Amino acid sequence: MLPDGRRLGAHLPLGGGMVAAVNRAQAIGLDTLQIFSDNPTAWRRRAEPPRELGAFRARVDEVGLGPLAIHAPYLVNLAGPDDMFHERSIDVLRHELTVAPTFGARFVNVHTGSHKGSGLEVGIERIASGIAAAFADVPDGPDPAILVLENTAGGGGGIGVDVDEMGALLAAIATRGVPLDRVAICLDTAHLWGAGHPIHTAHGVDRLVGEFGDRIGIERLAMIHLNDSKSELGSRMDRHEHIGAGAIGPDGMRRILTHPDLRQVTYYLETPGMDEGYDAINAERARDLAEGRPLAILPPEAMNLPGARARTGPSVEPAAEASAAELTG
Ligand SMILES: [Zn+2]
Ligand SMILES: [Zn+2]
Repeated sequence: MLPDGRRLGAHLPLGGGMVAAVNRAQAIGLDTLQIFSDNPTAWRRRAEPPRELGAFRARVDEVGLGPLAIHAPYLVNLAGPDDMFHERSIDVLRHELTVAPTFGARFVNVHTGSHKGSGLEVGIERIASGIAAAFADVPDGPDPAILVLENTAGGGGGIGVDVDEMGALLAAIATRGVPLDRVAICLDTAHLWGAGHPIHTAHGVDRLVGEFGDRIGIERLAMIHLNDSKSELGSRMDRHEHIGAGAIGPDGMRRILTHPDLRQVTYYLETPGMDEGYDAINAERARDLAEGRPLAILPPEAMNLPGARARTGPSVEPAAEASAAELTG
C-alpha cells in the first residue's frame, strides 16, 4: 500500500497461470492487478471463461486485491473511418465489458484510438457512438464494469492528447446517453510525456491535475498507468521505462504518487521486465518515491531489456508481446 491508502497495482502477465499472478502480486506487495482477459493482439475472444477463473477469483478475495482492471486488446480502435474495424472494435469492447464482472474486474481500460486522418471531431463522434453501441448490448448485472478511456501520446492521429480532448470525448459520450458513472479516464504518464505534458516537475504535475479538476472533475480520473518514459517530451512516442529512471524522472513521478488530489486514483505499473523480476523492483521504486526515500541505482542491463527494445510505436505498451501467448490454456 502507498501512503494515505493509495493502491498500487501492476499489469502482470498471466502466462504462468492466473493464480500464480495473484500470488506474485501479493509476494511483491501489490494491492491490485491489471490483466488481459484474453490474447491482446487478436480479435477472437474465447467463448468459455478460462478454467482457472474460479480459483483466481477466490485467491483475489483471499489476498484482498482490487480494484482489478482488464486492459482491452490493442487492436481496438473506435475512432477510425473503416466500418469493419469499427464494428469489430465495438464487438470486442462489448465482450470485455460483459466478461469483466466474471473476472471480478471493476475497470475495463481501453485506448481512445486514432482518427487515421478523418480529423478530431469526426473521430470523437465515432468513439462516442461506438461506446454507446457497446454499452447498449451489455447485460445488466450487480457489478457493472466502468469503461476507462486511456489518454494517448498522440502518434498516428491519436485522440486524447490533453484535458480538452478527453473532456470533449466524455461530453460526446454523455450526449449519446451513456451514464456518466460508467465511464472514466486513465492517465498513462508515459503517454502524457509523449504528448508534451511537462510532468517531470512537481509544477507540471500540479498544472495538469489542476486542469483536469477544473475542466473534467478529478473524480472522473479512475486510473493512472505509472510508467517512466524512454522517449522525449512531445515526441508522440510511447516507450515505457522503469520508475524514476527515464525522461520523466523521480521528481515528477513522486509528485504523481503524492499529489493530494489523486488519493482516490488506483496506480498500475506497466514498466519493462514484468517477467524478469522488475515487477518487484518497480513496485519498490514507486513506494520509495511515495515515502520520500532515494531511488536505488539500476544495473546497466535493466535499461536494455530485450522486450523493451522492441516496444516502439505510438500505441505499443509493455506486456503486449510478452502476454500475447498468455491464457491460451
Ligand atoms: Zn493501455
Ligand atoms: Zn497504459
